[in-house]
Order: sequence, then C-alpha cells, then structure tokens
Amino acid sequence: MNDRALVGRRVGLLLASLALMVVGTKDIRALRAYRETVVVSEAFTRQAPLSTYFDGIRGTLMDVPVFVFDSGVPGGSVLILGGAHAYEPASPVMAYVVMENITVTQGKVFVIARANMSASTLGMLGNAYPPFFRVKTPWGEKTYRIGDRETNPLEQWPDPFTFVHYPSAQNLAYQDSRNLNRTFPGRPGGNLTERTSFAISELIRREQIDMTIDVHEASMGYPVVSTYVCHQRAEEMCMMAAMILSAEQFPMKTETSPKSLRGLTHREIGDFTESFAVLMETPEPFIDKFVGPMTEALMLTGKDEFMQTAADRGLLYAEYDMKTGATLDYRVGRHLGGAAEVIKQMGEFYPAKKVGVSWPTYAAVMEKGIGAFLHDPAKAAAARVFRH
Ligand SMILES: [Zn+2]
Repeated sequence: MNDRALVGRRVGLLLASLALMVVGTKDIRALRAYRETVVVSEAFTRQAPLSTYFDGIRGTLMDVPVFVFDSGVPGGSVLILGGAHAYEPASPVMAYVVMENITVTQGKVFVIARANMSASTLGMLGNAYPPFFRVKTPWGEKTYRIGDRETNPLEQWPDPFTFVHYPSAQNLAYQDSRNLNRTFPGRPGGNLTERTSFAISELIRREQIDMTIDVHEASMGYPVVSTYVCHQRAEEMCMMAAMILSAEQFPMKTETSPKSLRGLTHREIGDFTESFAVLMETPEPFIDKFVGPMTEALMLTGKDEFMQTAADRGLLYAEYDMKTGATLDYRVGRHLGGAAEVIKQMGEFYPAKKVGVSWPTYAAVMEKGIGAFLHDPAKAAAARVFRH
C-alpha cells in the first residue's frame, strides 16, 4: 500500500470511529441532559440548594434542591431522602408523589428527591437497560430516569483500589467510594460522594431533623427486602410501625442497623446526628441478577418468569407471584405507607416531635395508580413547577 492509500485508510478509520462515538453515545447524552418535572403541592414553603449546608459541593451535579414543607405549627421535622441509589426509582418517584400531594398541619417536612443526582445520569455498565421509564397519567405521560447505583465516573474518577470508609477506617469495595449509602457521615475534604454525604449530615444537624427516612429498593434475592432498617434509637418506632403495617396494609419486616456495617445512613446518621435514622426497602425484581430482559415493562410491572422460578424454589426473601409481580404502584405505595406510619409512631413515642402530615395512602395508590397523583406541569402555576 502506498503512502497516500495508507493516510486515506487512517483518516477513514478515524472518521468512522468518530461517527460511532456520536451515534453510540446518543442515549447517554439524552439521559444526562433530561430533567424530570415536579409540581409541588400548596404546602410548599421554600427550596434551597444542598450547598447551603456545605459549600464544598457548590457547582456540582450533587448540589440538588432541598424542598421544605413547613406548617408553621411547632412540632417535629422529617427528612425524606430519595434517590440515594438512582436505579431504585420507586424512591425518587415516592418523593415526587409526596412533594406533589403533601399537606402539613404540624411540624415540617424536608424532601430531597435525587440525593445522588450524578448516579441518575448513566445506566449500569453491562446491564443494557433502558435509560427512561414512563408513567401514565390522566393528562399524558411523565418520564423518569433509571440511573445507576453509584456516582457517575464523569463526576468522580478514578476509584481507589480499596475504599477506606471515614471515620471508621473499615475497608470497603472500590466502587463504594461512589456509593452514597456507604460514604456517610461524609467528610468535607473527601471525594464528591463523601462531600455530598457530609452536606446531607450538615442539613440534618443544622435543621435539627428529628427523623431521616432514606428510601430504597432491594432485589428479592437479598434478605433485606420489604423491610425497615433502623438505628437502635429508632428501633421501637420501627417495630410498632412494621407490626401495624403488616396487620393492616402490606407485609413489612424490621431490623436493627448492624453496628459493624459502616457508611450506611441507618448507622451513621443515627451515630453522627441526633436524628432517628430509618431506611426502607421494597422488592424490585428489575435489579435482581437472574431476571430476563431488563425492559421498561419489567421496571413498571416486576413480572418475570425467572423470578417465579426462583420463588418456586424458595430462593427469595419476599413473597412473589408472577401474576401480580411487584408493580411501581405497589412499590411507591409501600413507601408512602411506610413513611407515614413510622412518622406517626415518632409522634406517639415523642409527642413534642409530632409531625402532622398526609399524602396519598397505599390503598389509594393501589386503587388509582401513581399517575392519578402526578400533576400536569402545563396547567400548574409556574412558581410550583420545578425541573429536577
Ligand atoms: Zn439502595
């Protein structure tokens, strides 16, 4: 081959790889650019960026809005923490349903819907699932991101060989350096995920949040599913709430946060702030390792034949029937009911910390679907519409 042909071939290959890069990253760029819309209820009081509490995250994707719903009547305070793990979308969607429908008669409620915004801007490597899912409403569809578990490497890279948790010095897996539920209580000089944990811990301390509810979803092959996990100071409230929910609404277990497992909200927020730390898990078949195609339908219905096979062989930690699956309505409804009951219990155990709050119940969501509780941004007052 002569020189000219060689140069021509090289330029051709370069152009072809550039074209592949542009086409191949189309979905990734669309996911990163897309913003979810929320129409807050009339109980909305104010919002402030998370960096109000710690300047070290200002200007990053982690500087998310904190929404406040304050009754003005003395009482307790609650923080609902959604989206710590973005690929567990019943968590941010529960936070959105709360924000769109909440009424507060006593105390105040803080909501962060996308605690790890960065993690919601990419999918999990190798899992080949869609970037979005859509929820039907009476006025059209609402689109939400399905993200990853950890902070996007575009925001935080490279990973250490071993992640050393601060301040316990416990050694964790390398990717846990980007896992918001392994980096609490956080530190001001740490990596971006640790700084975000620190900002949330600071919010809890400065606003004197009485109860923090960290909202998650779990795979059904994992023992901590359909469960509250609570710091020992919140143990009794969680036990009461789980008992009442199991008797009246849906099966709910409870367990106490292990002292040897570091970095998790239910351990560190309980140890490093005055707040009662509660974490909730639903069953989410989508993130189990052995399901079939990871489609939008699987995200919305949780119906999967391989999951049924696992259930038939007694390998799951929650009841499963492929006919009913584990729908997004069911999972969001569980979180709405689970948060409402444990907040009510805090008021029973500590009357001065009572928070008078209501939002759609588990039964209402199961009957009408979450779409019935999501409002049309085109018809709402501009001051109540936020992009997220
Ligand atoms: Zn999680």
